[in-house]
Amino acid sequence: MREVMKKKDIEVKFRVFEDRCRQSGLKVTPQRVAVYKALIGTDLHPTAEEVHRMVKQDIHSISLDTVNRTLLTLAEIGAAFQVEGTGQRRRFDGDLENHQHFRCIKCGKIVDFHHKPFDNIDIPAQLHGQFQVMRKTVYLEGLCQTCSAVSSS
Ligand SMILES: [Zn+2]
Ligand SMILES: [Zn+2]
Repeated sequence: MREVMKKKDIEVKFRVFEDRCRQSGLKVTPQRVAVYKALIGTDLHPTAEEVHRMVKQDIHSISLDTVNRTLLTLAEIGAAFQVEGTGQRRRFDGDLENHQHFRCIKCGKIVDFHHKPFDNIDIPAQLHGQFQVMRKTVYLEGLCQTCSAVSSS
């Protein structure tokens, strides 16, 4: 799990973010900065609605649609990504370090963990030469401690 982010980490992340924007020909606008900042400031893997609520404290006039589009843009340029398997409501992650997710199917909580062997799982032979694999993720689902305590009592 992520510790409280150090100032230096944030600076490094911002440099990566600015580079990705520049490489993709995107301007580093206040909106993009605010959305990105909100995203890397939490490890709750927020939905667009939740990011919107955070960003609105700084930029009152920003719309949910803008936040949503900005999040998708960040995912496109590789500054963030969408968490897999979260159903209807997209959840976003600004942590680009290798890590995996556990998701509680009951309360929807997503918890980061890092298990090194999961970083380099093999691609099945039958896919070789047919598909270009760009991202491999291991994703676990089940009940968190709180929810399993409730369902077993
Ligand atoms: Zn739960
Ligand atoms: Zn994560």
